[in-house]
Amino acid sequence: MKNAVVTGGASGIGRSIAERLRADGHHVATLDLNPSDTDSDGTLALTADVTDRGAVDAAIDTVRERLGPVGILVNAAGMEGHKRFRNLTFEAWHQVVDVNLNGVFHCIQAVLPDMTDAGWGRIVNISSSSAHSGQPFMTHYVAAKSAVNGLTKALALELGPQGITVNAVPPGFIDTPMLRRSEARNLLGGTIDDHIARTPVRRAGRPEDIAAACAFLVSEEAGYITGQILGVNGGRNT
Ligand code: NAP
Repeated sequence: MKNAVVTGGASGIGRSIAERLRADGHHVATLDLNPSDTDSDGTLALTADVTDRGAVDAAIDTVRERLGPVGILVNAAGMEGHKRFRNLTFEAWHQVVDVNLNGVFHCIQAVLPDMTDAGWGRIVNISSSSAHSGQPFMTHYVAAKSAVNGLTKALALELGPQGITVNAVPPGFIDTPMLRRSEARNLLGGTIDDHIARTPVRRAGRPEDIAAACAFLVSEEAGYITGQILGVNGGRNT
């Protein structure tokens, strides 16, 4: 049983990961922009913007006070953006990179001393299958998620000797509030059924599919797996 922090844990994939890790016996804290009701199920729900280093450090200090040192970090907080590149402002570019990439930097740095002291740690970064396939009108998002995959590979080499593994899970097409918002704004490049027809296993992904992969990667028995990008996408991107 470890103390786990899941960012973006109030919604969608992050929420499912938090529930799964808790079911597996870990003590779980979530970090998210808005308060959630996850406290009621025994999860420590904290409000923090992952782009704000001071807020992240304060939240991790609270986790240490309430639960103890952090052994597991899953970075699932994220935001999408849809804009034709020629019309993309630097501010919009920066915001998407700030949440999806810089937020990962801040959260890993905030928990790393605990893992280094323990000589054990598990870090999983939720990137995106779009980092593999590309996605029109999402250059900022795809660039940030590609960078998360790169960070994962480089950091795994650096932290392996300290007993800390670093892996990434790029989801494919997962039915979450984020996906439904894109569908409502007609930004999916087709209907959800169109996407399902192009997915070898013929269904949309569920948050629980991502949670299952994370549960394995943070386990003791996954200790020989690091620097890997484990696609969970119904076979659509390999
Ligand atoms: P979601 O339901 O929108 O959940 C994302 C959570 O992150 C939300 O609770 C959101 O809060 C929070 N968040 C956003 N910005 C934040 C910030 N600056 N600091 C702290 N929390 C922040 O989306 P999801 O689909 O579960 O996505 C989870 C992760 O999977 C994201 O990294 C996403 O890029 C990735 N992903 C998802 C899919 C998919 O098909 N769903 C595919 C590929 C990758 P608010 O709701 O208050 O903004």
